[in-house]
Formats: sequence, structure tokens, C-alpha cells
Amino acid sequence: MKVFKFGGASINSIERIQQVAAILQQYKGEKMLIIISAMGKTTNALEKVVDAFYQGNKETAIQLFEQVKQQHLNTLKYLVSIRWQEAENQMKDFFTEVEWLLHDEPVREYDYYYDQIVCCGELLSTSMVSHFLREAGLKNTWTDVRDIFRTDDNFRDANLNWAFTENKIKEEVLPLFNQTDLVITQGFIGATDENECTTLGREGSDYSAAIFANLLDAESQTIWKDVPGVMNADPKQFPNALFIPALSFNEVIEMAYYGAQVIHPKTIKPLQNKNIPLHVRCFLQPELPGTIISNKAVYNLPPVIVLMEQQVLLELSSKDFSFVGEKGISDLYELFAAHKLKPNLTQTGAISILCCLDDRPEKIEKIALAAATLFEVQLTKQLTLLTIRHYTREKFEELTNGKDILLTQRTKETVQVLMNG
Ligand code: ASP
Ligand code: MG
Repeated sequence: MKVFKFGGASINSIERIQQVAAILQQYKGEKMLIIISAMGKTTNALEKVVDAFYQGNKETAIQLFEQVKQQHLNTLKYLVSIRWQEAENQMKDFFTEVEWLLHDEPVREYDYYYDQIVCCGELLSTSMVSHFLREAGLKNTWTDVRDIFRTDDNFRDANLNWAFTENKIKEEVLPLFNQTDLVITQGFIGATDENECTTLGREGSDYSAAIFANLLDAESQTIWKDVPGVMNADPKQFPNALFIPALSFNEVIEMAYYGAQVIHPKTIKPLQNKNIPLHVRCFLQPELPGTIISNKAVYNLPPVIVLMEQQVLLELSSKDFSFVGEKGISDLYELFAAHKLKPNLTQTGAISILCCLDDRPEKIEKIALAAATLFEVQLTKQLTLLTIRHYTREKFEELTNGKDILLTQRTKETVQVLMNG
């Protein structure tokens, strides 16, 4: 059994959806669980619907949702002909679920509505692609993951009930493979025991695929993306970024920690625990091997570069120029926990502590105010944090030459530099 996950970019046009079918043709005869994200930027579009609804702009919310509907109905027309009516009816059921809600007034918390509305992106995309694949000769079974993934009601960041979900997969998903080799379902979403929809956090489909891979004891998981695999830097920032053929799970966890947008960090554990390799491949060039991520250690990696922009430096000094003792440090970490903020870099000195954080203005203002009761506080904004793992002297110099450096921190593997600009 293999688990495949196709991201939103892999189905954002008719041609790309046809390309997904072409890829699956290559695996005919193999049993595969397939997870498909919402089409293109649908999740972002649905977030706007939620915002409008929650601000009481019912008309705007309905109009914005209408655009999402039309886009899906149009795509469906091009993709499915013989069983078009059946496909359209299924989609209309999902539309109705949302529309009922949009006609109400918001009385519960924002995150609850977010999950009830946003989940329809993956329901629509998977239903549409499933019908299309059937017409293309790829028999498959579509299933609603909300009947399988049981979560708590921590909306927008729901936690999986592993035992319940495992049982459901054994009892309800495995038998589906007796009917068809392909089973298609959604990532990112689940439901509570009250049948309320939940989501697992943005970009959560990779994680869903890993949960399936773990509970199905899959031989591998493949994430199909629009890049040749994992690169040593973001190609949008560094056009000469290098492709990395193999990585260890631990390296990927490190990369994610330093801010590389490679793979949803929660994805790794379920795979690592069962030693299931993760492939990252390009749907535009399926002939390429892609990156393989596994428990095997990989040596001689190129320097891995992560640039985090919009950083802020919080400088805290003791009010009376005495040492910052353990009490001050523990007070500060309690503040971080209370504000749900995680510094990207910290350095303690005799009379001051430096912390680099993502600049989320509201949160930063709150923590700066709270810290001001304990310390002298100084904020510097518009900074960039550069991290180089497996750095070389040449790479370090190339990337920092002529830069106004505020802080450098170095271990054997990793160097971090906080720069102006
Ligand atoms: N559609 C969701 C998102 O865009 C989940 C995913 O694609 O992983 O965040
Ligand atoms: Mg995505």
C-alpha cells in the first residue's frame, strides 16, 4: 500500500488534474490511498468567506462563496461528462452544508465557523477528482474522512484521537480496497464526536497523509509538489537553489524548526515511528526521482539556507543594571508561554537578554508591554534572520558580506545571523 498526497497546486487547472490521472495510470494495479488538497487557492478564498460572515457581512460572505461554487462547477463541466449530474449533486450537498450556516448569525467562536466553512474545499476537490478519475478509467472509491478522523474540538488545530481513528481505518477504510485499488479522501479535516467539522492547521494535508500511512502500515508516502523535490533554499529567494536527493527525518525536523517551508513538521513523527520513507516528487516531471526522506543518516549535505523576514529584536535589560538572574529569565519564559510566542533565537548577557521573534505586531506589542513591568524594553523591527545549516566559510561570507549584522550565533552544524533589512 502506498499513500499519495497531491497539493492544491497539482489540481489548479484542467491540464493539471489530467496530469494527476496520468501519474496514477503509471501505478495501475497497486493499492493506494490518495489525499487531495483543496484546489489552488480555495482555502484562502474560503477564509475570506469566514471573515465576512463573522464580521456580519452576510451578503459579502454569500457572494464570495458563490465565486468558489462557480469555479468548482465550471471545472467540473470540463472534467466530467457521463456522470456529470451525479457529480454535481454530490458537490451541491457540500455547498448546502455551508450555505445553511451562512444564513445564520454567528453566535459561536470564530474558529468553529472557520472549520465548518473551510472544510468544504477538500470535500469539493476530492469529489470532483474522484468522478473525473472514474471517467478516465481509474476506478476508485471516494470516502468522507470526517467519518474516519475523529478529533477533539480544538478548532483550527484539532488533535487526533489515534485509537478511534485507527479502529475506523481498520473497519471502514481497509475493506474499501476490496472494491477498488484506489481510495480517495481528504487531508486537513476531521470531525468531533458531535459531528462538527474540524481542521488540523494550515497545510495539514501532509500530516493527514502521514496519519494514514502510519495506521495503514504503508510502504511509503509520496507528496506531489510543483518543485523537483526538497531544495537547499527557497528557489523564490535563491534562484540557484540546489536539489537535495536524500535527507533524514531528523534533518527535515531541524530545517522546519529554523523556518524552512518544506513539509508540515507534524508530518514527520508518524512516518519516522514506523520507518516509512517519504518521497517528495514533482507532478510536472514525474520521471524525476524526487527527494527521499528516511531514517537513514545523510552526509555531505550542501549548506541549507533559510531566510526569515519580518523579524523583530526584543532587547530586555535589567532596570538597575544588575545581572539578569534566573528569576528574570524564568519570568521572561513564562511571558513567552502565556503569549504563545516562541523566540527564533535568544542570547543572554550579563545585564540584558536578546530575543528574535516573528513580527506579529499585536502579539509583540502585548509582550513588550508585559515585559516592561520587569525590564527596560527596546524593540528593533524590519530585521532578517538568516540560518545556514552545514555552513561553510564561503557560504557564510557570500550571504553576509556588506550586511549590517546585529547578532551571530554558531554551533557546529548551524550558524544564525540577525541582520538589518
Ligand atoms: N488546503 C489546506 C491549506 O491550504 C490544507 C493543505 O493543502 O494542506 O492549508
Ligand atoms: Mg497546500
